[in-house]
Amino acid sequence: MKDIIQNYNLSQLTALVAEMGEKPFRAKQLYSGIMRGHNISDIPALPASFIAALLERFEDCTLEIVKTLTSADGTEKYLFRLADGNIVEGVLMKYKYGNTQCVSTQVGCRMGCKFCASTLGGRIRDLTSGEILSQVLKVNALHGGTPAKRQVTNVVLMGSGEPLDNYDNVVKFIRDMSAEGGINISPRNVSLSTCGLVPQMYSLAEEGLPVNLTVSLHNVTDEERARTMPIAKKYKISEILDACTNYFNKTGRRYIFEYSLIEGENADERHARALITLLKGRPCHVNLIRLNDVKERKLLAASERGAQTFLKILTDGGLSATLRRRMGADIGGACGQLRAGYLAQQ
Ligand code: SAH
Repeated sequence: MKDIIQNYNLSQLTALVAEMGEKPFRAKQLYSGIMRGHNISDIPALPASFIAALLERFEDCTLEIVKTLTSADGTEKYLFRLADGNIVEGVLMKYKYGNTQCVSTQVGCRMGCKFCASTLGGRIRDLTSGEILSQVLKVNALHGGTPAKRQVTNVVLMGSGEPLDNYDNVVKFIRDMSAEGGINISPRNVSLSTCGLVPQMYSLAEEGLPVNLTVSLHNVTDEERARTMPIAKKYKISEILDACTNYFNKTGRRYIFEYSLIEGENADERHARALITLLKGRPCHVNLIRLNDVKERKLLAASERGAQTFLKILTDGGLSATLRRRMGADIGGACGQLRAGYLAQQ
């Protein structure tokens, strides 16, 4: 595969344009076209000779939307094809305050969570910063957005992949996406979700990027957590909580726990009470969601009633918690489900 032009920020493009012997103003034209979601060959301002020279070094189409599914609730799900033919998926959720896009950070994932379809074939490769950014640029353009008038306002790193297992590219992506003059989505509007890679959580606290840190907790003891999340054998819940405290102290940002309710695994009343003991008094929020059933594994969602009871115990116990709607469940809304279905048909 050739290089990816979206890996380059404006100062890198300025250096590239100089190196290629083009006039300096071409860098801004190129950057502006990229930020509008154009392929290189579709950037109208550029002369044909420069486009030809660029295409010798760079992929023309970094990423293409090959399929769009629309849910009854308006959620859109996309399959993106990368230049090497790999497939990743993304989601756009529409809320009153704006549109939140869920992006992928790796092709597949090696964390092995039992309830997650993204791990079914392991990790194939990391995405580059430009491939992650291109997901946002393409979806923004698809909805008629421009850098000046964005249609994507919030980004969550909750598609396939473990963002902190692709640390450098993910951090560069967040910096490049928030650059002034570009699509300029602030880190404050970005949520990074991790299964709890403790050393990288400490590193992230030092980056000066005020992203919302979200941790997939999904259970209350290390032993029970390890039943569905192999990473629990490496990092203890207590170590994760210490890393969260450090993140709060360094960034002033409260943190969030994801808790997907799985029948017979983590959704009993005793789990709810144990969560209160673990988290009470912390500057955090708990996002409950009923599992999106993954038929490849025999894990099923807790009942709606059970989920409501769980939520009430948490809030009565003094935790900040909400039960999220399962957006796009009818179109395979959860992590990796659409890609798994698509690959199975090939
Ligand atoms: N690797 C990161 C981000 C990707 S998954 C992480 O582990 O946080 C985004 C969220 O969806 C995580 O909280 C993950 O545990 C959850 N998830 C994965 N599969 C799910 C499913 N079938 N139903 C509900 N939540 C799921």
